[in-house]
Amino acid sequence: MTFRAHSEVSPLKPVVVHRPRSEGPRLTRETIRGALLRVSVRVAVVSSLVVLTASVGLATPVSASSAPARTVLGTVASTGPAAVVCSAGAHTLGTLGDRLYPDTGNGGYRSVHTNVDMVYAAATNLFLAGNNVELTDQATQCLTSFSLDFERTSADTVAGPNMTVGSVTVDGKPASFSFVQPTYPGDPAGQNDPNPAAHEVSQTDPVGGPKDNPLPPACSPELTSTKASLQNVQNGDQCPANKLVITPSKPIPSGATFTTVVSYTGRPGVHHDGDGTTEGWFRSSDGGFVTTEPVASEDWMPLNDFPTGKPTYDFYDTVGAGLTAIANGILVSITPHPADSEFADGSTTWHWTSAAPIASYLVEDSIGYYTLSEHTGPTGIVFYEAQDISIPAAKQKKNLAIMNDQEEITDFESQFNGPYPFTSAGIIIGTPPASFEEEMQTMITFAGGAIGTSVLYHENMHQWWGDNVTESAYNMTFYKEGLATLAQAFYTALLAENAAGGPSSAAGKAAFEASLVRQFDQRYASAGSAWDGAPSNPTPYTYFSDATTYERPMAAYIALRQILGAANFDSALQEIQRIYGGGNIDEAQLEVVFHQWMPNQSDSCSQRLDDFFTQWFDTAYPKGGGTNRPQITGPGLDGPGFYNATGGCS
Ligand SMILES: [Zn+2]
Repeated sequence: MTFRAHSEVSPLKPVVVHRPRSEGPRLTRETIRGALLRVSVRVAVVSSLVVLTASVGLATPVSASSAPARTVLGTVASTGPAAVVCSAGAHTLGTLGDRLYPDTGNGGYRSVHTNVDMVYAAATNLFLAGNNVELTDQATQCLTSFSLDFERTSADTVAGPNMTVGSVTVDGKPASFSFVQPTYPGDPAGQNDPNPAAHEVSQTDPVGGPKDNPLPPACSPELTSTKASLQNVQNGDQCPANKLVITPSKPIPSGATFTTVVSYTGRPGVHHDGDGTTEGWFRSSDGGFVTTEPVASEDWMPLNDFPTGKPTYDFYDTVGAGLTAIANGILVSITPHPADSEFADGSTTWHWTSAAPIASYLVEDSIGYYTLSEHTGPTGIVFYEAQDISIPAAKQKKNLAIMNDQEEITDFESQFNGPYPFTSAGIIIGTPPASFEEEMQTMITFAGGAIGTSVLYHENMHQWWGDNVTESAYNMTFYKEGLATLAQAFYTALLAENAAGGPSSAAGKAAFEASLVRQFDQRYASAGSAWDGAPSNPTPYTYFSDATTYERPMAAYIALRQILGAANFDSALQEIQRIYGGGNIDEAQLEVVFHQWMPNQSDSCSQRLDDFFTQWFDTAYPKGGGTNRPQITGPGLDGPGFYNATGGCS
């Protein structure tokens, strides 16, 4: 089925309903934003809450980890109940000493479900009256106040955001709100520390700088240049006040589920990152294109902006008639509305839903004139394909041929990872020159009007690695980028296999393995920058370094596959998906599973595997390569290998 944008006010036909909901036929936009629908939506939210709480409780301890423990005060009378002290939720999910986006995330609650009620005028690139997000959260302590991340304004007055919060309610009652600066995580003086040094920008920990600030940074710089020589120019500046602190009319008891509605208007925009690139809401000629890693979801909506904050989502995007809204999950319905004061030519509400939780940087919600088609694969996965119609026809045709490979790529990658974790998959190709493609959950973004096959293997692999099993913190990004880059190595090996006779021939299989060995050896031989930065400890400036965040971890996984054996390596991947799917994973948890699938379980081999991980993931070597690089590799690879002549490690 193909939806093509057009300028008529008449209904887009037919309305697609994959999951019949109680919206009723032909609701007006006002009704959609009104009380009736809220009731039906909230019922859906409550039912998903029960499931989510049960599964998240097993797999996501981190999201609540920085919440202060519930405190019982004073002498407890023998007959009376203990007094419960309520306090403000933490303004960060970072931990003491973090230098990667230590300002992001919020404690004291767990994100459960978010309704995005977007009302967006594409011609002016503005959110209009009625635009809001409705966040359902569960308190993990008794809360006097709690916070969200929202970069409503920016020093970049052209492409940056310029939004205004009109009102905030908690459980339907007006709540007071203010914007405050972040404090460095773990500040013993509290998150409103009066010391200005507790609120400073830096690449490094401690801040250092001209005032020799010995404290950790409270936020990462928003650089306007990618030049290495300028990476420290903002160190010591004051962090912007991007923490939206909300004080409900009365404290929220621990364990309670509560709903916050933030109504806001104005222009969404891009965030300037610690490496000088931008991400977020990119203006296109016909709307906005959303691609946001690592932190710029907060440049178009308030949220709990941390990878482990993973609510489920519904999107109700009301846009001018003829425009298309593309979000995560499944397209539920397209509802037209007649002309009104905000949309002279009528409008359309696009409802997308994701029953799977979505990490903060993987929320997709782009608006424009797009072709949108869908088909359902044999295993029931719905595949969406979207392209901006302003891309030249010949280019669209080329793009489409590559997009059509997604189902086959998904099958290929399932051989390693196990079943695809979501009910839908998709690709959106937009026009803005965003400098990266991104693995938005079930809706991969390609920028600049073009798509490439190898990169599609990479982004599609992320659906398992990063999306379904999310990194527990920013410094774990290497874990999922290494696996996504491994998918590109698999693709190169697949081409060699096909050239040598295909997967059913011995020559083809041998060519696949030989290609992986060759790719490892090439990377290992490099004297470049892969070795002088630890993948698990980047600065904001080196966070997305090809060499340390992508290539070195990729090579480590090839070596690990040699150490465990291909079948055991796949089993480990699939076990990680089973245990941590829908949640997140830290480095120790990751390594434990690989340990369990090592064929030689001797103490000496276990120790050697520990050393392997330390060398490949956690060690910064002096420059130059040679002996200044990991000294444990794998069987059949260049370097010292892993096992001794008899298959042991002593
Ligand atoms: Zn990636």
